[in-house]
Amino acid sequence: TLELPRPTHRRIITVANQKGGVGKTTSTVNLAAGLALHGLNVLVIDLDPQGNASTALGVEHRSGTPSVYEVLLGEISVADAAAQSTQSKNLWCVPATIDLAGSEIELVTMVAREGRLKEALNSEAVNQLAPDYVFIDCPPSLGLLTVNALVAAHEVLIPIQCEYYALEGLGQLLRNIELVQSHLNPSLWVSTILLTMYDGRTKLADQVTAEVRGHFGDLALRTVIPRSVKISEAPGFGQTVLTYDPGSRGSMSYLDAAREIAERGVERTTA
Ligand code: ADP
Ligand code: MG
Repeated sequence: TLELPRPTHRRIITVANQKGGVGKTTSTVNLAAGLALHGLNVLVIDLDPQGNASTALGVEHRSGTPSVYEVLLGEISVADAAAQSTQSKNLWCVPATIDLAGSEIELVTMVAREGRLKEALNSEAVNQLAPDYVFIDCPPSLGLLTVNALVAAHEVLIPIQCEYYALEGLGQLLRNIELVQSHLNPSLWVSTILLTMYDGRTKLADQVTAEVRGHFGDLALRTVIPRSVKISEAPGFGQTVLTYDPGSRGSMSYLDAAREIAERGVERTTA
């Protein structure tokens, strides 16, 4: 049953923050699974050579598996590389293998090096999967892979960990997004800030939350993702927290966040 609005246009959302360990991958897979659970078609592009999103979605990513690497090289289509997630029949993932690790360097000498993922996502083959949402999980850097993700997307979602130095480095990320806007992708915008790993027992978490809301206003989702052991355990079982422990706070919070994202998308297009 479809309880969430289907977007009128395919939404391509890049999940970026050059800091590692802030919840990019965790947010990508759980938001994607949340939208898919409501009947929407979702495609995740794993753009981190670590392949953590592929793991969490239960998708094969051994070296040699058809992956986003061959897609960037233009050898195969997104549809050829996409594998169905064990989590949901309408959730697909283009995996990343360790082969992607060399691509930051290999891309440098390629033609149209910043636009290769965009080209792949624009191709007719993607329509076979008819994704309502495409989430792109970025590596923890601002290199050519992240630039490809920013060029390919309409929206950026920035996860921010409720920790010391939460806002540090964000200026650099925002400047890079502006550079991509002015030279390569004018319609790109930061649509969503998601606060993650919130620990209600600490005063610091509330300070960070207040600071982020002060800075980003309504771009920050009302839903905040709590720090939860269930969330961190799920990938070890090749699962998202939505199937690993459906009733848990972590699962509910990602479902709430997915709902907010879906509802805001509609408000915007009908505003
Ligand atoms: P990134 O992709 O930004 O590097 P991850 O999503 O991989 O970050 O998260 C970093 C680590 O923190 C992982 O071990 C993950 O399981 C854990 N983690 C992420 N979100 C939460 C959370 N809400 N509660 C507890 N652990 C979390
Ligand atoms: Mg990651």
